[in-house]
Amino acid sequence: MSACIFCRIIAGTIPAKIAFQDDRVLAFHDVNPQAPVHVLVIPKRHMESLQDMTREDGDLLAHLLMVCKEIGSDQGLCDSGYRVVTNVGRDAGQSVFHLHLHLLGGRHMSWPPG
Ligand code: 5GP
Ligand code: ZN
Repeated sequence: MSACIFCRIIAGTIPAKIAFQDDRVLAFHDVNPQAPVHVLVIPKRHMESLQDMTREDGDLLAHLLMVCKEIGSDQGLCDSGYRVVTNVGRDAGQSVFHLHLHLLGGRHMSWPPG
């Protein structure tokens, strides 16, 4: 069994509240939400972070972003807005080393992030 938490969620061995999935991506609600809407959008193929992507993954990266956009619409965030962020490595505070995009919305967010 994979040691990666998100690969286990993809395999269904760790439960998650799924928002969307297709053959390439899975979207599920964060277990420790930082906003009223906090969804993680991940590729089903394991890669550690954005840093592991190549030019050949461009279509997958675009798809991940489009899924964020579509979930933002589904969650009623079009007018109020939302944020999409991916943490890469230590300085960004990445804690799970399977690429994920955070989709956050439903409250005002300040900038710059801490
Ligand atoms: P990072 O800090 O790596 O950018 O984000 C990892 C995110 O994964 C965190 O927001 C954390 O709450 C979430 N997370 C960690 N483990 C689990 C889990 O088992 N299930 C779900 N749904 N989210 C998780
Ligand atoms: Zn993984």
